[in-house]
Amino acid sequence: MSTTIENVICKFCGCLCDDIIVEVEDNRILKTKRACPNGKGMFLDYDPAFQKPLVDGKEVEWDEAVSASVDILNKAASPLIYGLSSTSNEAQKKAVELADLLGAVIDSTSSVCHFPTVLAFQRTGEATCTLGEVKDRADLLIFWGCNPMVSHIRHFTRYSANAKGKLTPRGRKDRIVVAIDVRPTPTSKTADHFVQIDYGTDYEILTTLRALVQGKEVNPGAGGIAPGDLEELARLMKTCNYGVIFFGMGLTMTSGRSYNISELFTLVTELNSFTRFSAMPMRGHGNVAGADQVITWSSGYPSAVSFARGFPQIGPGEFTSVDMLARHEADAALIIASDPMAHFPHGAAKHLKHIPTILMAPMANCTAEAADVFFPTACYGIDVPGTAYRMDNVPLRLRAVLARERPADEEILSRIIKKVKR
Ligand code: SF4
Repeated sequence: MSTTIENVICKFCGCLCDDIIVEVEDNRILKTKRACPNGKGMFLDYDPAFQKPLVDGKEVEWDEAVSASVDILNKAASPLIYGLSSTSNEAQKKAVELADLLGAVIDSTSSVCHFPTVLAFQRTGEATCTLGEVKDRADLLIFWGCNPMVSHIRHFTRYSANAKGKLTPRGRKDRIVVAIDVRPTPTSKTADHFVQIDYGTDYEILTTLRALVQGKEVNPGAGGIAPGDLEELARLMKTCNYGVIFFGMGLTMTSGRSYNISELFTLVTELNSFTRFSAMPMRGHGNVAGADQVITWSSGYPSAVSFARGFPQIGPGEFTSVDMLARHEADAALIIASDPMAHFPHGAAKHLKHIPTILMAPMANCTAEAADVFFPTACYGIDVPGTAYRMDNVPLRLRAVLARERPADEEILSRIIKKVKR
């Protein structure tokens, strides 16, 4: 006999869609409704094959794996804690506590996506809003260096371009959509205006837009854009009722990085002299925004934080995981809800393979193959409840749809902390 559970949150991407219907039978997910292909895959392909942890490839009891992990972490002179973007805020908080206790470096997957955004927040401030405000009010949407039609598939229908809101009752017909990118994408094909720019010219274009918004004359041709296009974009920005710029790694991980984002936030602040305008990063993993929040409220910094000196220090390029691993500066790693062996550059992944590594993840992945200790922990939002931050930094409570069979990250981290203290 199957059970239908409504209003389940999909934690695959930063949209955290909270209207998913899940059908469950015999503690297995049979069907989902409303989830996009990415979310559907997360629910339907969920396969908790491992019920017990592995140490050196052999199945052991949970306490034995905790002791083996404590051994690794206590022996390390420069341990690294990495990942965190697909776990809960409760587990993230425990991870910071453990980093502090060990004198370790803690770094989230932000360091390879929107870390420059958070550095820019701290430098410039941000004019932000919620996705609810976007849905209800925004009549100009600009997607810059991002491709939500592929990465955040329901963003358009739930929150932005096609969503029907209080001041935008006809949805797409009440909005102008602009895409800015270095090449045509599925998102640019649905936009009213596509501004194709030369690679690496985002900062130049943002500065030019600032000048145009202030009514200054500029030389045509910034970023390889056809004469008149930027003037038209500046006009649209100044004359809309409520504009929002959603931006992605096309801005954060190209030349200029955090300076691109500072310039973007400054442009948005200046636009607020003419109309209402906001900017929002398109956060990828379901709770990567939560990782930034938790590490910041605990240490003062969002990512790449070292506790080696007994107090938190930030070091982009110094304490970011890829750099530490590539320079062979980490001598043990605890990976939480992430798969760096699949995503890191070769040099960093190679060193990770050679140092003692502990992994906490609901299912085996490439990192599990290289890990000395693998905890197949319960999945937040499927097996256990937990808190996660949506891309607009609204915290939501993830529901469990299956009966829990394994401990969660928070519990394993608590047990490690207890033993490390001893
Ligand atoms: Fe899940 Fe994101 Fe798809 Fe929504 S848009 S269903 S959160 S993957």
